[in-house]
Amino acid sequence: MYAFLPLGLRVLNKLTTLVDNEMDKIGAQKLLLPALTPVHLWKKTDRFKDNATELFKVKDRFDKEYILSPTYEETICTLVSSIGVLSPKMLPLKLYQISNKWRDEMKPRLGFLRSREFVMKDLYTFDGNLNHAQETYASVGEAYENIFKNIGVSCIKAVGDPGLIGGSITHEYHYVSNIGEDIVCVCSSCQYAINKTMTKELHCPQCKKPFLEQCTAEVGHTFLLNTKYTEPLKVLHKVNNVSTPLVMGCFGLGLSRIFTVMIEVLSTKEELRWPKNLAPYTVCIIPPKKGSKAENGSQYVNEIIEILDRLNIDAILDDRIHLSIGNRFMHARVTGFPYAIIIGQSIMESPPQVEIHNINDLTNCKVPLGNISTYFNSESIKT
Ligand SMILES: [Zn+2]
Repeated sequence: MYAFLPLGLRVLNKLTTLVDNEMDKIGAQKLLLPALTPVHLWKKTDRFKDNATELFKVKDRFDKEYILSPTYEETICTLVSSIGVLSPKMLPLKLYQISNKWRDEMKPRLGFLRSREFVMKDLYTFDGNLNHAQETYASVGEAYENIFKNIGVSCIKAVGDPGLIGGSITHEYHYVSNIGEDIVCVCSSCQYAINKTMTKELHCPQCKKPFLEQCTAEVGHTFLLNTKYTEPLKVLHKVNNVSTPLVMGCFGLGLSRIFTVMIEVLSTKEELRWPKNLAPYTVCIIPPKKGSKAENGSQYVNEIIEILDRLNIDAILDDRIHLSIGNRFMHARVTGFPYAIIIGQSIMESPPQVEIHNINDLTNCKVPLGNISTYFNSESIKT
């Protein structure tokens, strides 16, 4: 089990907001389900036995058994079914949560890459028929593409392995990384990709070009489940006056895994690197050292904070002014803040100037205070 420390939690919260925005665009509603699921629900869908060794189980004082949920198909179906037979006006119904999940891993490794407790976004969709469910499935696929575009690290969408969750259509989302545990066959010419466990072919079925094998880490998995869960758990609507099970989809996104893999992909051995949109703070402000020639430059700190505030850019002030600028700048780089604003010697020039370092691009320039807005507008930072 791992803890998110204050800076890491800011990254997770930014990732959560980014995912919430895309879920909102496709009309998905956020909820929060209880961590404990009664075992009898998993017995109804015949899933308890197959997964028993990977489940954390607990008993209450009356000896009733629960699992610490790794996934929530049974819980959400029971909840939706409790409403009664759904009216067509309620469809498609899209419900998701972002919460902790648990799996008693045989071999936990590499922090949140394979941890026993992890943070996941799980979305469940319910449609009246297969055609509509396929449209919903496609719209969630677009939302996932937007999420990965906004994170800024490219991700492979591959035909997936239905595994123990099951379903007719399934896709996986992978980051290319040596720390991963999957092999994905990626077409050398078109966008097609497939998990190696799913194919014996050496060539892409769409354009016949050879596959390249990539070592990857899976961060998302989507399934069109049909009625696998809605039938036994009676999630129903009326078709020609007959109660009929709804067509369900489920869509996972491993937020704590994305957190781990993207730092692995972007960082160097010595310094952390975050995508600009997810860094714990976008800018680190470094005022002059106490007792240095530029000491008076500290008077401009509030002005700089106000400028960044107006631009909606989050900033942290490294006010350990007993340390040299160089020392604090080194800390800013190691922590992975994308930008540093240094109030150094050039603050004594006329007009007063700061040094702005784009740490990700290894570029820097002197900017008069009045032009800080212009600098960041041209960098087009979104926070
Ligand atoms: Zn191809």
